[in-house]
Amino acid sequence: MLPEARERAVLLTDVHTELHLDLTSTESFGVEATISFRCTQPGASTFLELNGGTDVTLDGAPAPYADGRIALADLGETNQVRVTARMPYVTDGDGMTVTTDPADGERYVCAHTSMDITQKVIPCFDQPDIKSTFDVSVTAPSHWTVLANGALRGREGDTWTFETTPPFSSYLFTLVGGPWVSVTWDEPYAPAPGGTLPFGWHARASQERELRRDADELKRITSACFQHYTTVFEPEYPYADYQQVFAPGLNWGAMEFPGCVVFRDQALTQGTPTELEREWLASTIAHEMAHMWFGDLVTMKWWEDSWLNESFADFMGYDVAGVAAGYTDAWTSAAITRKPTGYRADRRRSTHPIAEETDKIVDVDTAFANFDMITYAKGNAALAQLGHWLGEEDFLAGVNKHLTAHAFGNADLAAFLDSLDAATDLDVRAWAEAWLRSTGFDTLVVTRDGDVPVLTREGSRSHRLTVSAYDTSMRLLDSRDVLLGDEPVRLEEYAGKVVVPNSGDETFAVVRPDEESWAAITAGLSSVESQLTRAMLWWTAVDLCESRVIGVDELIALADRHLRPETHPLVFEGVMRNLQGVSRRYAEPHEVAGHLAVIADIARGAVEGGDPALAPGASRVLARLSADSAFLVDWLGQDDVDQTVRWNAVTRLAELGDPSHIEPEEARDKSVSGHHAALTARAAIPTAEAKAEAWAQLMGGELGSHEFDAVGVGFWGWEQADLVRPYLTRYVTDGLDLGRRSGQAMGDVIGDAFPRLPLTPDVRRELREAVAAALDTGEVPTVLARAWNDALDDLDRTL
Ligand SMILES: [Zn+2]
Repeated sequence: MLPEARERAVLLTDVHTELHLDLTSTESFGVEATISFRCTQPGASTFLELNGGTDVTLDGAPAPYADGRIALADLGETNQVRVTARMPYVTDGDGMTVTTDPADGERYVCAHTSMDITQKVIPCFDQPDIKSTFDVSVTAPSHWTVLANGALRGREGDTWTFETTPPFSSYLFTLVGGPWVSVTWDEPYAPAPGGTLPFGWHARASQERELRRDADELKRITSACFQHYTTVFEPEYPYADYQQVFAPGLNWGAMEFPGCVVFRDQALTQGTPTELEREWLASTIAHEMAHMWFGDLVTMKWWEDSWLNESFADFMGYDVAGVAAGYTDAWTSAAITRKPTGYRADRRRSTHPIAEETDKIVDVDTAFANFDMITYAKGNAALAQLGHWLGEEDFLAGVNKHLTAHAFGNADLAAFLDSLDAATDLDVRAWAEAWLRSTGFDTLVVTRDGDVPVLTREGSRSHRLTVSAYDTSMRLLDSRDVLLGDEPVRLEEYAGKVVVPNSGDETFAVVRPDEESWAAITAGLSSVESQLTRAMLWWTAVDLCESRVIGVDELIALADRHLRPETHPLVFEGVMRNLQGVSRRYAEPHEVAGHLAVIADIARGAVEGGDPALAPGASRVLARLSADSAFLVDWLGQDDVDQTVRWNAVTRLAELGDPSHIEPEEARDKSVSGHHAALTARAAIPTAEAKAEAWAQLMGGELGSHEFDAVGVGFWGWEQADLVRPYLTRYVTDGLDLGRRSGQAMGDVIGDAFPRLPLTPDVRRELREAVAAALDTGEVPTVLARAWNDALDDLDRTL
């Protein structure tokens, strides 16, 4: 934390912000702000952030405005300053993001803020430990609806006025405007005046069909989560309404703005959502709603404690989607999709303690880079282990003490541990040292003493977990709760049996089964009754492959045997994703066709099997990977093919050398997702001309971040190692150029577009050297440098 920020937090109290925003011009938007606050040291001076403003005035005169700051000198005990400015719209999702819907030409404006972005929208004291109340009014085109953090007070002509909000941090400020279609209702809530709160779901006008299709389920999940949280959390729901918006141009999955949560608009899927997508949306709804308490009501003091927001929300997201919203297998999805991202992140050099040390967060870009899978996935898993270790009741009591003690304020790790400590006799500080202040993960190793299994922990933490015993055909015989620390645990009663540690996936540690157990597991994986245990075992197989203990071919062979009989859609889809990721990163070019053929054939089996829960996910994989052009063309000719499946087939056909289906598909689907899919398909065409064109587009600096993503996804085709080879080093040089001209968000997507495709070891080494040389110059912007360092670590694992 910067000293000047620490000083400012001490200096200022009782901040209130009155805002009027004018969104009627398409060139720029107008801001009028009246900010009042008290100062603890009259005579001192301070500053407001405002990034990119023009015509900036302070109290009616030209403002002392430089380097994104308005100087405020000689403060009184009470102060009121009035700032006006013209501000630019943006298209990269960092600020007042304007999007034009290609389907109908309608314009949408969304204040996508966070971290240090709110200063690109309004003048503010832009740090998390200075909270302000807000009075907002917005003038907008007359056919728009405007939503903001506060509940709507009323509309007069084209001006929307919102109720005064409770205090919250600047990074949580938002408003969204456009011709939204809406589904609204009054949610029962006893403490509210009248006994209900206004709730709503909103989407772009062109997504009306999808919103109506999913409205009942979206409402059901929302209500179930809300009723759950307002029962288990002691502080009342802090805000006057709860609006959820599928907002265009958002760079993240979702964002927890108080009373006005936004989700990326792709989450309202055009085609039939797959089970994994449905579960993701349910967990994300629960995640963002948890933030109303964790993050919004009680906020981290500074960014090193972002885990206090994100680890909790991530944990609650999976937990509450299950216990409240009926997605009872959410943890199965976590085991095979979410947790693996945590292990992968924890293996890289960039890993960091879940609760980072203050002096490591040198600037906002570093803090931004730490919103990673250590903070989300590993933090989530560590809290799940904490809850399992403490027991649910004490865990919840500690959480409630924390929320009550710091409501509308800020807190840090020490404050959280004080609350937890008051709720349990167990040593939570030692637990925090071991789990929150360290890096890396433990390995649970099974060996045999004679035929007695012995469980050993390689690493440094204590674990409470379930160990299960099976017969050789993987029929469950027994399970027991085990506390595993420094001392090995002999499992006498499981002598001669197959054993699986962490069968309930309660802890964050990888598993190395003994040889006999592994032989039985690989022979009988699909016979394991618990889907959660199967998911954990599939991850173990993927992990063994990524650790080069087994080959990609062995993993594919395992899938050939045991994924075909898999009936659980989350396990099926999750494993399919992992298989594709592993093949892309670890396979040699000459092996790819064989691997893809097996994966596509497993998908084909599931599609033809007719199980409606498996079909949507399997169809997408089949359409994207099949090498059978005639089959794909025939599929496109059928009625009622899901739009996402259609685009996958069009992209695959383009990749196989037949781009003729792109234009007709574009004509039939003018949606945002259709626009992105067409970009992907064109970038996949296997000719030098098409690649040159896609490259010029990619590095031209004109693409929005989602468009950049879309082109990047198509560019590095599975079987195109030779064709794209000239672009491997250009990715580094051109990417660096573009990264230096762009902001955080673009740095992130350039990093995501890293060439991940099967390459020979020599070519991988070349790519490695080019990236390392660029990093050595010290000129790579922080966010991109983080992505590239991570990509290098991942590449090194394959060499
Ligand atoms: Zn979150």
